[in-house]
Amino acid sequence: MRPARARIDLSALRHNYGVARQTHGGQVMAVLKANGYGHGAIPCAQALQQTADGFAVAFVAEGVALREAGIQGSLLSLEGCFDMDELQQCVVLDIWPVVHQLAQVEQIERLDLPAGRSLHVWLKIDTGMHRVGFAPDAVATIHRRLLESGKVGQITFMTHFAQADDLAVDATRLQIERFNQATAGLEGGRSLSNSAAIQAWPAAYGNWGRQGISLYGVDPVDQTRSHPELRAVMTLEAGIFAERWLEPGDALSYGATFVAERRTRIGLVALGYADGYPRSAPTGTAVWVRGQRTRLVGRVCMDMLMVDLTDLPEAGSGDWVEFWGPHIPVGEIAAAVGTISYELLCNVKRVAFEYQ
Ligand code: PLP
Repeated sequence: MRPARARIDLSALRHNYGVARQTHGGQVMAVLKANGYGHGAIPCAQALQQTADGFAVAFVAEGVALREAGIQGSLLSLEGCFDMDELQQCVVLDIWPVVHQLAQVEQIERLDLPAGRSLHVWLKIDTGMHRVGFAPDAVATIHRRLLESGKVGQITFMTHFAQADDLAVDATRLQIERFNQATAGLEGGRSLSNSAAIQAWPAAYGNWGRQGISLYGVDPVDQTRSHPELRAVMTLEAGIFAERWLEPGDALSYGATFVAERRTRIGLVALGYADGYPRSAPTGTAVWVRGQRTRLVGRVCMDMLMVDLTDLPEAGSGDWVEFWGPHIPVGEIAAAVGTISYELLCNVKRVAFEYQ
């Protein structure tokens, strides 16, 4: 079998959940959307089942998959995108829907509820992200209407921050202020915080935090560094399967973007952009081999890439190369290619997933 794998450290996942749970005043939801940010939603949920206060996914179908896998307890569908059938599934499987527009309130009013059942609805307020959510001055009316529908047993108010990772701007403080004004005196739970807010904005703590990226070990405020308390959950690694020497002047790989200036020993590694490693990673991007940092050289191909072994005489065929994990923060690679760790993690595919 090709030596390429994503090792998923479930004890690190539990540890990172514990860090957020201890920091945040209220309960914390483990956000498992997009297949657990690429880590595998079901194994991650199973690993957290005994400890987590609840789980969140993006879409109802993701919630259904968790329920079918036997995952119990609080389960929120975050994105507020559902049709009438999915709303019925929410009732049957006790999945909490997010409601952010009037048409959804009308859907809830039309809902056919079995006796004794009711929905726990999360009412989303747009406090400044201007993506989805009710305007703050509509919240009291919508809240009353949901309660009067007779279909809703519990309401939790929620909002989402646009810049909680940026401690230098005033946007998050303003969003918290608008949220508090919009919900003052209204009965219901409160949920504002994503990972960055759990870490950095205590004023945003409510009944529920929603922990995504820091669950997977990424520092939500500075993704390029290793967080002192969090542990990387995914290690993306692949094996060296061939070696060769380049002479000065030899060009390497497509586009000849790397030309050797000295005799250079290259390791060929069985991982490429078809596995989710970014093709845009330039020569010089960090990799980890035999306890040391070295660098990627030449253009990343679909099924292989090249690393510089010149200063690692012991390294060669059979050695594993870490592309991100405990030694190379995934956010460092993301920054090198102009994206965020979320995107790289979600994109990992084709490699073997090993849970430990
Ligand atoms: N809450 C909502 C509504 C989200 O969409 C997300 C993810 O984007 C999260 C919470 C988790 O965010 P993070 O991964 O930054 O913790």
